[in-house]
Amino acid sequence: MSKTLIVLNAGSSSIKFVVFDVTEGKPVNLATGQIEGLGASATVFSAKDGEGQSFGERNFDKASGGISNHAEGVDVILRWIDETFPGSEVVAVGHRVVHGGVRFTKPVKIDDTVIAELEKLIPLAPIHQPHNIAGILAAREAFPGVPQVAVFDTSFHRGHPFYNDTFAIPREFYNEGVRRYGFHGVSYEYVTRRMKQIAPLDAEGRVVIAHLGNGASMCAVRYGHSIASTMGFSALDGLPMGTRCGNLDAGVLLYMLDQKGYSSSEIRNILYTKSGLLGLSGLSQDMRDLEASDTREAREAIDYFVNRVRREVGALSAALDGLDAMVFCGGIGENSWRVRERVLQGMQWIGIDLDEEANHRNARLISSPLSRVRVYIVRTNEGLMIAEHTLDVLGLLVKDVQQAAE
Ligand code: AMP
Repeated sequence: MSKTLIVLNAGSSSIKFVVFDVTEGKPVNLATGQIEGLGASATVFSAKDGEGQSFGERNFDKASGGISNHAEGVDVILRWIDETFPGSEVVAVGHRVVHGGVRFTKPVKIDDTVIAELEKLIPLAPIHQPHNIAGILAAREAFPGVPQVAVFDTSFHRGHPFYNDTFAIPREFYNEGVRRYGFHGVSYEYVTRRMKQIAPLDAEGRVVIAHLGNGASMCAVRYGHSIASTMGFSALDGLPMGTRCGNLDAGVLLYMLDQKGYSSSEIRNILYTKSGLLGLSGLSQDMRDLEASDTREAREAIDYFVNRVRREVGALSAALDGLDAMVFCGGIGENSWRVRERVLQGMQWIGIDLDEEANHRNARLISSPLSRVRVYIVRTNEGLMIAEHTLDVLGLLVKDVQQAAE
């Protein structure tokens, strides 16, 4: 009987999943999919195979029962896996968990104590953590006895020096957990691991990684370890994102509270769902829509995004005492040659010389042979990283030579 592993990423209204065959102790992608619109009147299930071919979509409307919560969603996924890969046994479930606080510096096997600890972290990530926990509880019910592992978006950044881990507010806040945690750690860890394979010398140097997707952040990595991130206490800080504001003067919050009389939930709504590319363009959160638009607002939204990324290249290079390589990943970083070109234009001062032709075709190496700093595109794969961690924590991973040496 073949063995499968499921990776779940449970959000507020969606559950993303990846199914891996792990019969040989190494994850092989069988399917990637999602349920969107949980709790809404129309819930849509869609999935693709390992080659990106669609398995089709299924609509669940309210009349036919719908999918109202995470438990039902996980159940639908389980039934679909059963139908699509008959005769396979689910041996583990790996969960992406946004916040591991100070305690979880690496992936952990989930038990009641871990769940209680994750619940304590809800105040630090009220938008994401409750859904991650709901996904864990739903999966425990759906797969009783199957081991589950939590992999955290914060773990990769836990080694930051104090000055990159704190805000300059009274110390008591730091002590109670108000820290610059940084997120997207699963993606950065995967990219760092890939860099060891494709450019081992650069991977040992000073690297700035730009994860530019609907969520966006950048990370300074030295000798394979994160030392600074543009994201801070919450997933709002740093770069502007699809709908999130990025870096914001705290005085603006006071203005919204005191002068506009907005409640905290109204402010939360503005900063998380109405800001960023969407807020500036008034058009879309999607970079493709903005690139296709000829409105001034769309252009200015892209200008803002590009210029914040450029500033962070400088800031993170200073944090690293120099720069040896830069990496782009995420939907925008991997696919938008225009954004990359604009970010890297005129960066010879820092040692970057772009190979425009390579950049146009999304090549792996997009810096010219003259460039002192090498610039790469790496397709991130958070699902694979979570699957490997899950197998590793459970002692089921068959490591290759490089992994074994780490
Ligand atoms: P992610 O959250 O990593 O899936 O990234 C989503 C973002 O990537 C959206 O803003 C998309 O518009 C953007 N994106 C994906 N493909 C392209 C493309 N070919 N050109 C420009 N942006 C893209």
